[in-house]
Amino acid sequence: AAKGGGRGQYRFYSSELKDGAKLRRQIEEDLRDALVTEQGLEMHYQPLVCAKTSKVKCFESLVRWNHPERGWISPADFIPVAEDTNQIGALGEWVLRKACKDAASWPGDLGVAINVSAVQFANPELPQIVQNALDASGLDVSRLELELTESVFIGDPTATHEMFRDLKKLGVRLALDDFGTGYSSLGYLKNAPFDKIKIDQSFVRGATEDDNNNAAIITAIVSLAGALDMVTVAEGVEAMDELELVRERGADLIQGWIYSKALPQDQVLAKLEAGELEYVPNGPAKHRSD
Ligand code: C2E
Ligand code: MG
Ligand code: MG
Ligand code: MG
Repeated sequence: AAKGGGRGQYRFYSSELKDGAKLRRQIEEDLRDALVTEQGLEMHYQPLVCAKTSKVKCFESLVRWNHPERGWISPADFIPVAEDTNQIGALGEWVLRKACKDAASWPGDLGVAINVSAVQFANPELPQIVQNALDASGLDVSRLELELTESVFIGDPTATHEMFRDLKKLGVRLALDDFGTGYSSLGYLKNAPFDKIKIDQSFVRGATEDDNNNAAIITAIVSLAGALDMVTVAEGVEAMDELELVRERGADLIQGWIYSKALPQDQVLAKLEAGELEYVPNGPAKHRSD
């Protein structure tokens, strides 16, 4: 992981970081225990809703960790620790197996989208690990999507190309997550076999018609995706004016708290069993003031 540069040096000498390093080591050990005992780790599922019909199309799986002393820790905090301490393989495999198993009990052809980190993507065994999760769960491959970020392109181009080829050979769909942040290069889109582009939350959050830059970027991504035959998702839609904007700008799918946060499997099943496959936005139209 990129930890070089001045920031890393400053942190090395600060007493805060000494505590930080200690905390990281503690998190590392506790995560190892959690993976062995399977205590505290959970998968939650957030719906992706059709912009036109408001029907749920699939769910994104998001890992949750209820730490024995610290309570809930965000994946944004412990996934990087898992990546740095050689545990992302085990965690990623647990996630794949659990999410495929849970999705196999959802009705119809509802799909599941599973986040795969660049470290997992660099492992030549990933296609076999995915296939094993499919076999163990009985989930049809047509219902599985993997979410990758642009960071997968940092690796060796030949290995990257072969991994894309092998994953497509399995028949899984691929989504490009957090598009527009990080290392965005349109060259990636030209050759990589993505089925879906997820417009990063930073362009969606607070995007309104008066905010021309975000709205223009959303329009451009939707247009690009359409030309490349890819589906678009607007991520992180919280407010009614954001929902209206991304719908009007042509995003195909909506994901965000305006519909639902990520839910535990029992709540997903309860909703699906009650036939609640169609969502209405939460609450009245609100306008963010930040
Ligand atoms: P991501 O894949 O981009 O996931 C979307 C994140 O946005 C999730 O955060 C979700 O809870 C949050 N989100 C969704 N709608 C809204 C909204 O309307 N407002 C706001 N403020 N946030 C919203 P979460 O669950 O904390 O996950 C953070 C990141 O951690 C994920 O970003 C992903 O990169 C990573 N991650 C989560 N689960 C896994 C996993 O199972 N495996 C791997 N490798 N990474 C994961
Ligand atoms: Mg994602
Ligand atoms: Mg994302
Ligand atoms: Mg993200």
